[in-house]
Amino acid sequence: MLTVFHHPDFAAPIGDHIMPMRKFVLVADAVRGKADVMLVEPAPVTEADLLRVHTPEYVAAIRTGEPRALAESQKFPWSPQLYPSVCLTNGGCLAAARQALRDGASAALVSGFHHACADQGEGFCTFNGLVVTADTLNFSGEAARVAVLDMDLHYGNGTAQLAASRPWMFAASIYGNDYWANVSYRDVTVRHHEDGENHRSHALPAGCDRATMLRILDDALPEIAAWKPDLLLYQAGADPYHEDPFSPLALDHDDLRARDWRVFEFARQERIPIAWLLAGGYTKDISKIVRVHVGTFEAWRSVWA
Ligand SMILES: [Zn+2]
Repeated sequence: MLTVFHHPDFAAPIGDHIMPMRKFVLVADAVRGKADVMLVEPAPVTEADLLRVHTPEYVAAIRTGEPRALAESQKFPWSPQLYPSVCLTNGGCLAAARQALRDGASAALVSGFHHACADQGEGFCTFNGLVVTADTLNFSGEAARVAVLDMDLHYGNGTAQLAASRPWMFAASIYGNDYWANVSYRDVTVRHHEDGENHRSHALPAGCDRATMLRILDDALPEIAAWKPDLLLYQAGADPYHEDPFSPLALDHDDLRARDWRVFEFARQERIPIAWLLAGGYTKDISKIVRVHVGTFEAWRSVWA
């Protein structure tokens, strides 16, 4: 049985935005009722959890809406619902991580928000749920060492920045676009492109096919195993999909399922509890985004069932 965290209040009202908030509900609908999946509502993270990762000025801006430029630095219109909804999505990530520590695997129908930095949001990411989760578990002693494997199309700059001061964390970002020339993310300002001891990046080349992706993934996975994490947080992004408007890669549904299968098989073999998140996906036909995410559940099933 896989416990999957979802809450109808995950999505703050942001109007007609390129970020398809609706997909989280659609993925919930697609997995609800499966005999081996149980949907559970998470609790929000606390302000204390946020304040170990983000600056007091930034957390206050998201809570109050002022100063407005900082409150909208992630490029969402601010509303009073933003703060509670982001505490809840970060709470979904934390709940899935805790569940994975008990069950071996779990998922949350949220993004990890990998562009969010200590003192500002970026690229549709408000609070960095990956690092808030890792930090909360490390602080409480529930998990001493936490690894992040980020396979969103975009480079996880916020996670890299926040990992740099957390030597017990390991962040691997396998990204697939020319990050700094990417039009949608031209406003991303924190350039944490220098890999460090505990944050590594691997670029997928334009036109990348399944064999090339798996070869690069097989370079990254031993780095994670060598780190000996107590928990792996996996961002299974839908934006590497070849029809995504930002993706220069040649990866279809089967290729992305092969990616997820490889990651799950690694976690099972290495006996590392794994919690996965959905991350980006901007394909115009939202059913194709949902299909990538449902494919991740299929990959889980074929490894663990
Ligand atoms: Zn992305």
